[in-house]
Amino acid sequence: MSTARSLPAAPDTTRSTTGATFDVISPATGALIGTYPIHSAAEVDAAVAAARPAADWWAGLGFAERARRLDAWRGEITSGRAELARIIHREMGKPISDAKLEIAMALEHLAWASAHAREVLGPRSVRPGLLAVNQECTLEYRPFGVVGVIGPWNYPVFTPLGSVSFGLAAGNAVVFKPSEYTPGVGLWLAERFAAVVPEQPVFQVITGLGETGAALCRSGVGKIGFTGSTATGKRVMAACAETLTPVLMELGGKDALLVDADADLASAADAAVWGGMSNAGQTCLGVERVYVHTDVYDDFLAELLDRATDLRAGTGAAKIGPITMPKQIEIIRDHIEDALARGARALLGGAHAIDGQFVQPTILVGVPEDALAATEETFGPTLTVTRVRDMDEAIELVNAGSYGLGSTVFARRDGKRIADRIRAGGTSINAYVAHATITSLPLGGVGDSGFGRVHGPDGLKEFTYAKATTRQRFPLPLALTTFTRGRTTDAVVDRLVTVLHGRNR
Ligand code: NDP
Repeated sequence: MSTARSLPAAPDTTRSTTGATFDVISPATGALIGTYPIHSAAEVDAAVAAARPAADWWAGLGFAERARRLDAWRGEITSGRAELARIIHREMGKPISDAKLEIAMALEHLAWASAHAREVLGPRSVRPGLLAVNQECTLEYRPFGVVGVIGPWNYPVFTPLGSVSFGLAAGNAVVFKPSEYTPGVGLWLAERFAAVVPEQPVFQVITGLGETGAALCRSGVGKIGFTGSTATGKRVMAACAETLTPVLMELGGKDALLVDADADLASAADAAVWGGMSNAGQTCLGVERVYVHTDVYDDFLAELLDRATDLRAGTGAAKIGPITMPKQIEIIRDHIEDALARGARALLGGAHAIDGQFVQPTILVGVPEDALAATEETFGPTLTVTRVRDMDEAIELVNAGSYGLGSTVFARRDGKRIADRIRAGGTSINAYVAHATITSLPLGGVGDSGFGRVHGPDGLKEFTYAKATTRQRFPLPLALTTFTRGRTTDAVVDRLVTVLHGRNR
């Protein structure tokens, strides 16, 4: 690994009133790779206070100038992406080529947000309807002012930028609290932004642990864009409720991949292996469960094992990195051991596949539907593969879960019909996770996977409030909203209501 450039400088520790710090430890080697301040609630409040005038200034630039600055930021990220990929690799462990792929996807969404903000959010005329024909109506989507973003470590660029890029494009200033595992990534992004927007602190990063994030929730920001686990999401919502701060919740998942009898089995197996094992399985949209039509179950398993057997988790040229969070290892172990104790078999890997922070690919069959490995987010390179009678049974099992983030269907004839019946924020047919990469499509979940959307027009609107404005162009002969309204007007309105709505019986 190249060490030609060091991590970006930690924020000025003189801004830390407590002097408290936290360390970032390499999940691959256990080495110390950075120390960052734990910003206190007072410092979070100060960052938000500094962001308020910056937000007014940024909103005042208008769509075109903001787009120009965001495009310049995109250029900065693009030219520095090798360095950024190294920081991702060092902090959370994924292979550098995967880190580069993540950055490429994030750049696509940033470009879309910048290019489409005016068209999606800008003022437009709206028809007033017959009873208000004298009114000129305008609708526009206004920024909240300052928004807070709290992000996870697993895709430390792609995921937070789903909120940061769209919040900025909508005209907000952003205060971002990256995960304690990936603060250097967050700081790098903010430094590059400041290079193209030096005038005001439009995009700030505060560092710390959960308490710093909680302080951001209570700081009076206009909205919190949260991405993380369902358990933490509930705590964030509770904190935000104190100040009635609205929230966007991008939470965990337990995504399934369905394989119909007429599916392209080679492609389905390839998607299952990549969807389940890439990023060491630490993907919100990762495939964790596979349901396969009984007619092709054995052939599919053969294809799957063929592709997964030589995959290794490790350092150097290994295609799978370490598990980032030490505490996740015990969850992965629990899920595997629980499944095996309840009659499942490991066709690949198993409990012995865990060695320190590395987990080798694990494929489990015969897992009961109420086992932890089938119901809870495992967040490791594991797959459960289950034989089903038909796709009706598969859909029933998929929809029985509490999460509803993404899903994948492999089928030649009935793909759309199957997809339409799956309760999830997105479904990709005959390709893994395509819907998350397409810039004009929204990404988000239902149920325990959260609510609200990033990406596309919905993602832009998420960081705004709708503002309705009317201008009376001339008075109506029949004045309705006045105490001077008389019986004649009431009678006319009565007749009009009958004409307009009376036939709908
Ligand atoms: P966590 O929920 O542990 O943490 C998410 C963020 O919240 C971190 O920055 C964390 O800070 C912060 N935080 C922790 N406690 C609090 C609190 N009380 N108040 C405010 N903020 C707090 O998630 P992970 O970082 O482990 O991320 C993995 C999870 O994210 C998985 O469940 C995954 O499925 C989900 N995810 C969802 C995505 C989606 O689009 N739906 C995309 C990517 C991931 P700190 O790290 O310092 O504790």
